[in-house]
Amino acid sequence: MTPDCKTEIAEILRNTDPSLDRQLLDKADHCRRQHLGSAVYPRGLIEFSNSCPRNCFYCGLRRGNSLIRRYHLEREQIIELALQAYNDGYHSICLQSGELSSGREMDFMVDLVSTIKRCSSKKSGPGLGITLSLGELTYKQYRRLWDAGAHRYLLRIETSNPLLFQRIHPPEQNYNRRLECLEALREIGYQVGTGVMIGLPGQSYEDLAGDLEFFLAKDIDMLGMGPYIPHPDTPLAQEKPESIPDAFSTSIRMLALARILMPDINMVASTALQSIHPDGLRLGLKAGANIVMPVLTPEEKRKDYMLYAYKKYRDFEHLKQDIQEAGYELTLWQWGDSPHYFKRRELSTPDCSPAGNNICSLRQRT
Ligand code: SF4
Repeated sequence: MTPDCKTEIAEILRNTDPSLDRQLLDKADHCRRQHLGSAVYPRGLIEFSNSCPRNCFYCGLRRGNSLIRRYHLEREQIIELALQAYNDGYHSICLQSGELSSGREMDFMVDLVSTIKRCSSKKSGPGLGITLSLGELTYKQYRRLWDAGAHRYLLRIETSNPLLFQRIHPPEQNYNRRLECLEALREIGYQVGTGVMIGLPGQSYEDLAGDLEFFLAKDIDMLGMGPYIPHPDTPLAQEKPESIPDAFSTSIRMLALARILMPDINMVASTALQSIHPDGLRLGLKAGANIVMPVLTPEEKRKDYMLYAYKKYRDFEHLKQDIQEAGYELTLWQWGDSPHYFKRRELSTPDCSPAGNNICSLRQRT
């Protein structure tokens, strides 16, 4: 991405002209329908533990937050939730928790993944597709989980600006370490997902343009982005977002730009997007998102899994109806993997060039 292109992207993100927004969404939607059709794939999200040894300044699960009740679902309960999701046609789940911190937890996870895989495969076909989101682990640990049967991993960079990264994390958490983890996941063979928060204190539109450049450079397969929503019991909530006044609209523009730049990746309409705006799901889909993550965590635990404040949940029937009304199709009984992953594995040189989808000429055409 050239410096001029980055400047232009920052201008598009800064824009408040509704007609430019409409054109941006139309282009993103066209691009998505051309490359991915109208399918929207669910990932049943099981937040199986809210314990975390980390202390990220923005996160409600940080170890310093003594105001939440820590929980860990039982092995059998997690397996039951996963198999129920499979029976309901989800065919892909995401197992998420705070960062794993001990060898015992890793053994638990490896057993869990392989058991879910084995039990679901017995029923029919290739079994459940398993995405993991368990934080920064060692190469060996990622490898063990891959061998157990997981094949997608989400690890958000949160911001591609190393200085901003350091501002929202304690000193022991290191930007380069996160890059190493993303690299390890890719090398092992995972479909790799990352993402950022939008509207962080100290973040600029230029940072966000840099985030898009980062996703392209890392040749990612999956993307999860959403507005930063402060959690009142975190240190970052004390800081005022300075330069991005409308995190929701900026998030929608970021999704649309990402879809145009990376037409064949999987992109999630995040819960954060849906939590801060009544039309968040529809606009997220229109901007190119093709994945939703219905929460399967037992209801009595959900209030203890608040990464950010005011997290909202939609039941399956409403979600399905909202997707249909937006003009898309909730697609069950399929894994819904990222087409980009297969393309890059086939090619010796990753092809992430946004051919025919040149953002930098968008303004000229509008
Ligand atoms: S963002 Fe992740 S690693 Fe950081 S405190 Fe929250 S759960 Fe832990």
